[in-house]
Amino acid sequence: MSLFLFVHGASWAVDRRIEENADVRSSRRDRQIQVLLFTSADGEVRRSEIAENFPEEPTARLLESVWKYAEVIHAGDPGEMTSRGEMVVPGLRDVLRAFSRALLLRCPNCGGPKVIRRWFALEPCCAKCGLQLDRGEMDDNVIGGMYFNIVLAELLFAAVLLIVVIAMWPHVPWAGVEYSLIAAMIIAPIIFYPASRLMWLALDLLLRPPDATEMESYANAAKSARKSTRQSV
Ligand SMILES: [Zn+2]
Repeated sequence: MSLFLFVHGASWAVDRRIEENADVRSSRRDRQIQVLLFTSADGEVRRSEIAENFPEEPTARLLESVWKYAEVIHAGDPGEMTSRGEMVVPGLRDVLRAFSRALLLRCPNCGGPKVIRRWFALEPCCAKCGLQLDRGEMDDNVIGGMYFNIVLAELLFAAVLLIVVIAMWPHVPWAGVEYSLIAAMIIAPIIFYPASRLMWLALDLLLRPPDATEMESYANAAKSARKSTRQSV
């Protein structure tokens, strides 16, 4: 696994070399590129030693904090969380595919339709691939959705303002622009709500793709739900 971090224009690579049987600790400056390698005998990256081994590198402390955060997210008690896949760095094509599916109000995982129950509520699961659309993390999904909601509304704000100012300069009707943008900023979060929820799901799926165990758990949950419905009828 390689993790690349870009900090203040410098490229950092943390490389996990499982095949090596000894500690490899090196830091070298190669023009603009700084490379750090951290491995231990058992192949695990030693997060706690990053800053210790490179006290002269201020960014090493930052790297350590980022690493620690990722570790906490990955290893922490996830509560109701059902997804346990490894974090990955997605490719550009995957990013574009997942986000365009979300914007078209389709399942970011498989592109299946019918993932919206009502404008403010997703279906519990995708009818096509069976993915639980909040992945067992309802609160995170709603909060993450809000983040994308704000981003989309702000982008709309900036784009409309820019277009109007450029098109009408120097006779920009500022009062009209102000009132229309206020109205747009009230309406936009409502319009973007379902897409925002799905965009957060897209990001989540890109960084933590569902593994077979996770998909199996959804299939089993759906099966037992069907069974209990049949029994109650
Ligand atoms: Zn799906």
